[in-house]
Amino acid sequence: MKVSVDKNACIGCGACAAICPEYFEMGDDTKADVKKGKEKVAKADEKKVKEAADGCPVNAIKLQ
Ligand code: SF4
Repeated sequence: MKVSVDKNACIGCGACAAICPEYFEMGDDTKADVKKGKEKVAKADEKKVKEAADGCPVNAIKLQ
């Protein structure tokens, strides 16, 4: 599974970084970023990353 953030959709609420700080961080542009090297989600982390995606109020977290 791969994860990315749609910067155009992100409203910078910070929920993803709070729920799953291992994968998400807030950038200088006040929007969320997937942390460097974390674009490919480890099997063991999929649940947590999905939880963050579900918690995004604007569905800006894309899973593939
Ligand atoms: S939860 Fe969604 S809107 Fe909030 S910071 Fe993360 S990607 Fe952006």
